[in-house]
Amino acid sequence: MDGDGETLANLLREERRFPPPPEMAAAANAGEDAFRAADADGDAFWAAAAARLEWAEPWTQVRDWSRAPFARWFTGGRLNVAANCLDRHVRDGRGDRVAFHWEGEPGDTRTLTYADLKDEVCRAANALLELGVRAGDRVALYMPMIPETVVAMLACARIGAPHTVVFGGFSAEALRGRILDCDARVVVTADGGYRKGAASALKPAVDEALEQCPDVRSVLVVRRTGQDVGWTDGRDVWWHDLVGAQPAEHEPEAFDAEHPLYIMYTSGTTARPKGILHTTGGYLTQVAWSHWAVFDIKPEQDVYWTAADIGWVTGHSYIVYGPLANGVTSVLYEGTPDTPHQGRWWEIVQKYGVTILYCAPTAIRTFMKWGEEIPGRFDLSSLRLLGSVGEPINPEAWMWYRHAIGSDRCPVVDTWWQTETGAHMISPLPGAATLKPGSALRALPGIRAEVVDDTGKPVPNGSGGYLVLTEPWPSMLRTIWGDEQRYIDTYWSRFPGYYFAGDGAKKDEDGDIWLLGRVDDVMNVSGHRISTTEVESALVSHPRVAEAAVVGAADATTGQGIVAFVILRGDGGGDTPDGELAAKLRAHVAKEIGPIARPRQILVVGELPKTRSGKIMRRLLRDIAENRPLGDVTTLTDSSVMDAIRDGLPAAA
Ligand code: ATP
Ligand code: MG
Repeated sequence: MDGDGETLANLLREERRFPPPPEMAAAANAGEDAFRAADADGDAFWAAAAARLEWAEPWTQVRDWSRAPFARWFTGGRLNVAANCLDRHVRDGRGDRVAFHWEGEPGDTRTLTYADLKDEVCRAANALLELGVRAGDRVALYMPMIPETVVAMLACARIGAPHTVVFGGFSAEALRGRILDCDARVVVTADGGYRKGAASALKPAVDEALEQCPDVRSVLVVRRTGQDVGWTDGRDVWWHDLVGAQPAEHEPEAFDAEHPLYIMYTSGTTARPKGILHTTGGYLTQVAWSHWAVFDIKPEQDVYWTAADIGWVTGHSYIVYGPLANGVTSVLYEGTPDTPHQGRWWEIVQKYGVTILYCAPTAIRTFMKWGEEIPGRFDLSSLRLLGSVGEPINPEAWMWYRHAIGSDRCPVVDTWWQTETGAHMISPLPGAATLKPGSALRALPGIRAEVVDDTGKPVPNGSGGYLVLTEPWPSMLRTIWGDEQRYIDTYWSRFPGYYFAGDGAKKDEDGDIWLLGRVDDVMNVSGHRISTTEVESALVSHPRVAEAAVVGAADATTGQGIVAFVILRGDGGGDTPDGELAAKLRAHVAKEIGPIARPRQILVVGELPKTRSGKIMRRLLRDIAENRPLGDVTTLTDSSVMDAIRDGLPAAA
């Protein structure tokens, strides 16, 4: 995919380097030793990681790849995920430790210790049993960011009923599609939740979705906002009535390591969402290990915060399962970052003494747009480590994060992974790695990643290609729910024997990996293949630009022409954008990357279309740039954004 290594080398020209802080290096949970151990014996490495959990029955085989690409890990082993996340901490004297400092958007708060959470989960497990849910039955969750969401997930896990969490922001139609796809019979929801300063209803979407889901027999409803709800007698039941009446004792049953834990639908950034199936033993092993190693978790001291929605895989692995398996204290926040003011996150960091913050580049670029004086008003000195996930992080956004949030002191770990991988795959270990802004560096211990060319051969250092994973890993997806053929076709067919991630990447002269965005998004301009990430990073490196999205639009002379949508920085001067600025930005890209990457068109917009997890949906921008009707918008956060962009555009777009 790298048609012209020379003109497109701008990310590789990034020369800033940040060695680990000496205190972190001295006390790091994992470093070069872990790489050495995993390189010497991968199965022994993962067996040791699995031994951090509590098993009711030991496994007989670590990895079984005999039916590739269908993997089995820890064959014969049995465990209960909820007991690993809760019961063993309570039993071993950690029951009084706070599991979650929950902060509602209106400012109401709740503190749940590990003992509190265990009691609630036992009650909810008993309630689900009373509703007739049995091991293997699917339960759909359509919830706000409240403690009951975590409780419901763990209650499902405790009784072996796979959950499927659907973002609270999705439409009735999206919810219905997912309920039908996995054939869920019970739905857990709430009257509503708080977002952007107001109660936002959830129950009506459930009611609408269920008009066409005849097999759903029960809806368990949490009262969060107190707003009026429609009620179907015999089907709907209040959480406080049913769960509240249950005993806080429930004996956890141990499930097979390959028992299904959950189905999570992908973000839908590029296509119709796929129901990704994760199972029990391998998933919890890798999620717990990666959380502990990548975030250097010290459970007695840290206050950990993944500022993301639970309805995204990041929430599953790094709000719920990883942090609880490691017994750390977390923050859980219900609402949006600008309610009631643009400093809300920083106020939360200050209030709870957050030590580790994990969020998406989209949030960081939004904060850049708002300006660094906003976080500057708060005491962020408790922070010691920052993480990024979800999209390539532009070097300038990385630098801003490290500087404005991390006081030039905190390492930033850029973690590459996917719904399908279940856990971190490529990421620095903060106590060991010398960081490069914009690079996820190399595969974690026990993980094998490669960048290959069209024929599947590894590219030399200094070149780009397709990112693949060359060996199975414990938390890998086991299939696409109900569609084994799509699983094989999507991931295992492009390069036989390798998992194809769908992302492009480059290896620098040290062999470190730089993610370049989706292969589907790569542009072809006069025969040169140009990545969206590189052009976007060049735009974001201009002081006026906070965020950029770039697409290739059909062009009569060049094949594709580059069209850039940009959002300007709040502190970069709010004057109306004009032809002069566009010309400056086009020249800036030409200087940073090369004349071939100069955008044909630059359009200043107020917002970009994003998924609920904050990913830019370039395919919709391509529809606009090519004057087509929009494709599937069901996973878009806010569909009015598309109208606003369209209305603001010159007719030629
Ligand atoms: P769909 O597969 O339905 O189009 P999606 O790929 O956006 O949706 P996710 O599984 O949530 O769904 O996202 C994984 C993708 O996000 C990766 O394939 C990659 O493109 C991007 N990504 C995640 N983390 C990083 C990162 N640290 N650097 C670069 N890209 C990242
Ligand atoms: Mg994907």
